[in-house]
Amino acid sequence: MTDPLQLLDIPATLPADERDIQATVARFAEDRLRPGIREWYESGRFPRELAPEFGKLGVLGMHLDGYGCAGASALAYGLACLELEAADSGFRSFVSVQGSLAMFSIHRYGSEEQKAEWLPRMAAGEAIGCFGLTEPDFGSDPGGMRTRAVRDGSDWVLDGTKMWITNGSVADVATVWARTEEGIRGFVVPTDTPGFSARAVGHKLSLRASITAELVLDGVRLPGSAMLPEARGLSAPLSCLNEARFGIVFGAVGAARDSIGCALDYAKNRTQFGKPIAGFQLTQRKLADMTVSAGNAMLLALHLARLKDAGTIRGEQISVGKLNNVREAIAIARECRTILGGSGITTEYSPLRHANNLESVLTYEGTSEVHTLVIGQALTGIAAYR
Ligand code: FAD
Repeated sequence: MTDPLQLLDIPATLPADERDIQATVARFAEDRLRPGIREWYESGRFPRELAPEFGKLGVLGMHLDGYGCAGASALAYGLACLELEAADSGFRSFVSVQGSLAMFSIHRYGSEEQKAEWLPRMAAGEAIGCFGLTEPDFGSDPGGMRTRAVRDGSDWVLDGTKMWITNGSVADVATVWARTEEGIRGFVVPTDTPGFSARAVGHKLSLRASITAELVLDGVRLPGSAMLPEARGLSAPLSCLNEARFGIVFGAVGAARDSIGCALDYAKNRTQFGKPIAGFQLTQRKLADMTVSAGNAMLLALHLARLKDAGTIRGEQISVGKLNNVREAIAIARECRTILGGSGITTEYSPLRHANNLESVLTYEGTSEVHTLVIGQALTGIAAYR
């Protein structure tokens, strides 16, 4: 498929090690993900059986150090996300939640025992993790959460409901955020603990090849050692979300690149009024505008990767990337669908699937409105959330 990012020679400017990793993930996507995606999307199934293959590929927690993780650069992680999301946002979501939310929360805030128990198995794809922050009544405003953890002797007892949790019903372990007497704390919850249950959300029109679930915690009793010792307050889960958002900045470019490539190939082959529709100025304008916008999004992603690898990246900078790149990618996917005409409404072509997936990406890890407010606050010094 034609790669519109080649126009700016962007791939050629990347360091060799990172390019190799990107090429390996692209090959995996070609061999193992693309052949099945139409069926998984249509049947609304996440191919859980591929989890160990993701582990073997080395993308689970790939930017973390030790405990079986690859210790790759932020750039390498971003490029892997790009290739996964070019196949389908569901795969990038799986890898983001596993590595940047579930594993990162344990890696950054966990005890040595928690890390040793979970991280190697999660890196190998033998154990799946999820991250429970959102609740039915508290999405953009997670600080209002109702899930409670109460001390009972040396144990903790958790009660509450978490909503829209990726990987929730196939997870072996959940990082659950709860209100305690000492503020918001995180807990590592094995999902076979009595009182824990998960129910997959059905009838989704978006991210159909990904699992989204409701978690119910009904008197879940955990030992004192289940608490993440270093995570205190809402800033802990928010720091995990920043990790995952970074992957989205690149992933969105992948969905855009795949959509443009698909529309470009189609436009060259589809003839109307006696010539390929690629020969009409209106079509070329669409293709040119989308290529400019995808190129800008990629350059922004690469800039943020440099900041992240230098260890200086700030939350509002990630918000700029998430807001811009998802907004541009969804506009691109929709525009590509118009180039495909009627053919664009089935799963034979990827753009409408990408557009539908990006509706979720626009919403999770902070909605576009919330990222706008983050940037607004950074610029003005005034918080406008309430
Ligand atoms: P609301 O917060 O109710 O927002 C509704 C609308 O109001 C939005 O447009 C929002 O931008 C707007 N709004 C809210 N507050 C303001 C404001 N102050 N100013 C202006 N506009 C505002 N959560 C997890 O914890 N773990 C997961 O793994 C996870 N996976 C997800 C997977 C999917 C497919 C989806 C759809 C969601 C997932 N989420 C997950 C939840 C996601 O993070 C929330 O959906 C998101 O934070 C928005 O919350 P909400 O849906 O309750 O919408």
